[in-house]
Amino acid sequence: MNDILPEQTPAWQYLEAQVFDVLQSYGYHEIRMPILEQTELFKRSIGEVTDIVEKEMYTFNDRNGDSLTLRPEGTAGCVRAGEENGLLYNQTQKLWYKGPMFRHEKPQKGRYRQFHQIGVECFGFVGPDIDAELICLTARLWKALGLMDDVELQINTLGNSESRAAFRKDLVAYLSQYRDQLDEDSQRRLETNPLRILDSKNQETQKILREAPEFHDYLDTESKEHFSQLCAYLDAVGIQYVVNPLLVRGLDYYCKTVFEWVTTKLGSQGTVCAGGRYDGLVEQLGGKATPAVGFAMGIERLVLMLETLEKIPESVNSAPDVYIVANGEGASTYSLKVAEQLRTDIPNAVIVGNSGGGSFKSQFKKADKSGARFALVIGESEVQGQSVVLKHLRSEDEPQRTLILNELSTEIMSLLND
Ligand code: ATP
Ligand code: MG
Repeated sequence: MNDILPEQTPAWQYLEAQVFDVLQSYGYHEIRMPILEQTELFKRSIGEVTDIVEKEMYTFNDRNGDSLTLRPEGTAGCVRAGEENGLLYNQTQKLWYKGPMFRHEKPQKGRYRQFHQIGVECFGFVGPDIDAELICLTARLWKALGLMDDVELQINTLGNSESRAAFRKDLVAYLSQYRDQLDEDSQRRLETNPLRILDSKNQETQKILREAPEFHDYLDTESKEHFSQLCAYLDAVGIQYVVNPLLVRGLDYYCKTVFEWVTTKLGSQGTVCAGGRYDGLVEQLGGKATPAVGFAMGIERLVLMLETLEKIPESVNSAPDVYIVANGEGASTYSLKVAEQLRTDIPNAVIVGNSGGGSFKSQFKKADKSGARFALVIGESEVQGQSVVLKHLRSEDEPQRTLILNELSTEIMSLLND
């Protein structure tokens, strides 16, 4: 689990602000859920035999002996919150959330034990137009961030549960003939979660899969139509995609549409955003049957991508506009008043006070290091004269000059607008 340090947070804030703007413009509403839920919720939604539930959850008993789990993802909690607060019955919702998720994985580049997602969940929409909207929304975000050329959209359909069951049966029968040649994980999954085998990165397993039954032949008509309509929507808005029949996703609740945005710029942790439809989940968790679709993006991976591709604008590292240097009898009280006046008059400006005193020399050093454009210098004579001395820190040839307090805000404002 990582600390996110002051030198990193500007990139995070930039990304989050861009995402926020896009979500706003599509009319989505924020929901904030607790980071803890009853363990049972995740078992019932994500699935008992998934990687997450089998080996990645942070689970503990609280003082009452209730089993709680730090959320490994946001969908289950969002459904629980929607259900509990009557947001789902007989209505539609377009929701988003952001925050930390927890999975006990092997930490490596792009994979952490506490990581952050921004997630979107839509409830009550049955057709593929909402699937298309979610993909449009993410595509717009990649464009805004300058990442569009470095991501690829992969889509697939998982059909309904009957078609998946029929396919699973034949897939298991086929793969069982080659049990000994499968990788260890896949052998285990043959009993527990055979569809995940399609996802295996193992070369030998991949070779065996080439001759395996194909899900396409099992797909129910309704899912087929849903998928081809989604493809038609994407074609109409000019979003390119690759149909990847091996894309199955690691959580049990998905049906019909699944999609991932992947990049080759991050090594093996290439999925930056992933989601799909989960029409059965609300009912499975005790609500009335409600169609639903959503996705989550990994903030760490997107920040890494922005950094790697140098897509973070210079302006996010905003240096102070004004740094106030003060020394002498009455100077600290006076400088506090000057700073407050500037903050009132120029709300957008960054005004930094030199808290903690020190000689003029050491204060100037700090002012310079802060990257500020201007220093305001306050000594005893400035206190007496109700004035300040203005110094340009970023240009040698501008002379310093004395400004009187009454004119200070107007002067600074016009300098900042230059
Ligand atoms: P992966 O295939 O990388 O294990 P996943 O299928 O487990 O991903 P999801 O549950 O779909 O991931 O989560 C959505 C997104 O959240 C991922 O695409 C990824 O960007 C991010 N993510 C998931 N797990 C982690 C993690 N441990 N550390 C950082 N980001 C993560
Ligand atoms: Mg994972």
